[in-house]
Amino acid sequence: MSRPADAPIHYRIDPADPHGHRFTVTLTIQSPDTSGQKIALPSWIPGSYMIRDFARHLLDIEACDSRGPLRLTRLNKDAWQIAKARGPVHVRYTVYAWDLSVRAAHLDATHGFINFTSLCLCVLGQQHLPCSVELLPPPENVASGWKVATTLPREGARAHGFGRYRAADYDALIDHPVEMGQFVLGRFEAAGAVHEIAVTGRSDVDMKRLTRDLSRVCTAQARLFEPDQGKAPFTRYLFLTMAVGDGYGGLEHRDSTALLCQRHDLPHGGLNAPSDGYKTFLGLASHEYFHAWHVKRIKPAAFVPYDLWKETHTRLLWIFEGFTSYYDDLMLARAGVITGQDYLALLGRTISMVLRGPGRLRQSVADSSFDAWTKYYRQDENSPNSIVSYYAKGALVALALDLEIRARTQGERSLDDVMRLMWTRFGRSFYRSTGGPGTQIGLAEDGFPPLLQEATGLDLRRELRAWVDGTTDLPLARLFAPLGIDLSLTTAEPGPVMGVRWSTAGQDLRIATALSDGAAHRAGLSAGDVVVAVDGLRITSEAGLKAILTRRRAGQRVQVHAFRRDELMSVELTLQAAPQTEAKLVVGTSVKAKSAPATRLREGWWGDQRANRDASA
Ligand code: ZN
Repeated sequence: MSRPADAPIHYRIDPADPHGHRFTVTLTIQSPDTSGQKIALPSWIPGSYMIRDFARHLLDIEACDSRGPLRLTRLNKDAWQIAKARGPVHVRYTVYAWDLSVRAAHLDATHGFINFTSLCLCVLGQQHLPCSVELLPPPENVASGWKVATTLPREGARAHGFGRYRAADYDALIDHPVEMGQFVLGRFEAAGAVHEIAVTGRSDVDMKRLTRDLSRVCTAQARLFEPDQGKAPFTRYLFLTMAVGDGYGGLEHRDSTALLCQRHDLPHGGLNAPSDGYKTFLGLASHEYFHAWHVKRIKPAAFVPYDLWKETHTRLLWIFEGFTSYYDDLMLARAGVITGQDYLALLGRTISMVLRGPGRLRQSVADSSFDAWTKYYRQDENSPNSIVSYYAKGALVALALDLEIRARTQGERSLDDVMRLMWTRFGRSFYRSTGGPGTQIGLAEDGFPPLLQEATGLDLRRELRAWVDGTTDLPLARLFAPLGIDLSLTTAEPGPVMGVRWSTAGQDLRIATALSDGAAHRAGLSAGDVVVAVDGLRITSEAGLKAILTRRRAGQRVQVHAFRRDELMSVELTLQAAPQTEAKLVVGTSVKAKSAPATRLREGWWGDQRANRDASA
């Protein structure tokens, strides 16, 4: 077979030095800008809203044309300009890749992981042109027997092989991560598409179980968006999974996702009901898969197109991350891989998580979305007091809207209808638009309220104002009542508390956060203080402290000794009652809870649980 011609932009990726964690990249630009081509590496990766300055890991850059070396001028932290060239230009550089997250690149003798935002300089002004990528294997004397997993279309490379791949443009290139190494591969078909899961890292994963469960989740999601055909908007999908001892994370892409999980969260042979860890993994996979529709195809208008060199603010992340966080676990119940009761427990945890943070009374989810770059993604000791998660509270807003719509329409309409309308309006044709740049549209900043009304026939502007722009707690107990589900709140501790989030290191019990208006805050204790004694008794752990506090009452005063830096201080602290933050959801036992209307609403919401039990038997 003859070698395909290089695309206008070609990247040769060589994992040349696994021990030094260095890729060598050669970029060839067929027709550089005659006035001096500019090239730049993105400063962030879509889906993870923080400036990361990937160019700081780029080393030894040089450029040449057929006549010899070309001068490179530094323009700013991310960008270079190549001197005027004659004919094609080659730019050669190395990239240090030692970030074991889903957001960057990683290389050692066991595997390589690539987000092209970390490796491929963007040819400015030519982003719309097709690119080709040649993936080389690592040096034989360091590693061998590696395969490749990616959803980049192949152009000469064999299935799971090194060689040539292509991308329609730069935006597509950076949306298809690559794993290379000796991963374990699972495969299944669902929603009219071939799905693969590549697991890197030592694990005893039961691939049969994993592919069976994922297949059900994928099918359920495609049916949500396309009830008639149940087809996914892609023909291939890939779960790139890195299993480690301790770690968690996921990043969505249009036809794949990169996941980081604890190896013991993966299912092992003989596992019956899913463990808590496995539910966590399935929830993560479900979350990222949902994003293939919601945020990769249905997008906020602010992301069309992405500006990869500066913060791109939107007040809508509560819709794109929050709704996704709502549906991720709900789809597990609808798919029958967890029970309705499991689902209520997971939902209870989300409610508790939101209620534990005083920041929820200060920041709305719309503001949290806008400030994601500087607040949610850059958390510090004061974050629990100052921010609310647009993931967790966004999920609760989705829940509240869903329950409200179902109750007011007797189950005729739901948030599913809203998702479907967003899908037909913004998502379905997103990557199929043929009119060139500028024809793709996203959800405008003020576009959601009218869309909600159109999909449901209900005017929920008042609720949106209170729940999205306001900071009062959501009326969840009232909203659950028509479904015959009881929401109760209890305290996390039997005794009084000091109003603190703790962190322990060795024998030090340290205040991670003094919660706003809590007992510690009022007594003058702060984040970073090491509490060493209460009422003259040495404290070295949270359990030791609790043993003392359970013998006290709220309102009682205790003497606290603490170190701030190396200075001992002593304060009187008035203990506070533990707040009622722990949510529990159960299907009620009343006649009303067992009535046909309540049962119908429940089953419309979390699926027919009898069918689920049969399916998982
Ligand atoms: Zn997400």
